[in-house]
Amino acid sequence: MSQTAPESAVRRLADIQGRMARAAARIEGLAVPTLVAVSKTFDAEAITPLIAAGQRHFGENRVQEAMAKWPALKAANPDLVLHLIGPLQTNKAKDAVALFDVIESLDRDKLARVLAQEMQNQARPLPCYVQVNIGAEAQKAGVPVEDTLDFVARCRGEYGLEVIGLMAIPPLDAGPYFAKLADLARQAGLDGLSMGMSADFETAIMMGATQVRVGSALFGTR
Ligand SMILES: *Cc1c(COP(=O)(O)O)cnc(C)c1O
Repeated sequence: MSQTAPESAVRRLADIQGRMARAAARIEGLAVPTLVAVSKTFDAEAITPLIAAGQRHFGENRVQEAMAKWPALKAANPDLVLHLIGPLQTNKAKDAVALFDVIESLDRDKLARVLAQEMQNQARPLPCYVQVNIGAEAQKAGVPVEDTLDFVARCRGEYGLEVIGLMAIPPLDAGPYFAKLADLARQAGLDGLSMGMSADFETAIMMGATQVRVGSALFGTR
């Protein structure tokens, strides 16, 4: 697992919160979004100081890795909110529903069906984001842009999932893609916009992100 000096992580947290507030203040009427601290590859020792500093939302991209470190952290801090931001195999859906509080990688019908069943079985109706392949990149996950509105409608109607927003990992020059995702969310009648990472969270905020997912700028390089 990667290492990071705890005091520097807490200092970086304050710095990022300041940058987020300044980015939001640049546009009239924008609220400061939720910061999801992406802790993948970092162990509990690196995470604990941020929890102590008041950080509540965390993101992980692998179910297996999250199961190794989060049950204990969550037991000690019941108000933490854990986001799954990586690809989810249907055979891990049961574990994911048991551990996570928000699913951000909902991207296909089979997964929607299995998640809905698991949430019902466990009586844990978790909020979900539909992941959109906003740059139509072959190597990236997500629903094609042109299928997004129909897929969101099916997730809500047919599967009864609580879809609260859209999530994307856009191409490098992300600005136009953030705008496109915001527009798509408006069309779908969704308020949640999970976009912006270490390199571009300020741009994402100015384009209406309601949550940003920041890893390396917080914990250091992986
Ligand atoms: C790793 C990851 C992030 C954080 O990326 P950084 O560039 O380290 O901030 C955000 N979102 C997803 C889906 C990720 O996998």
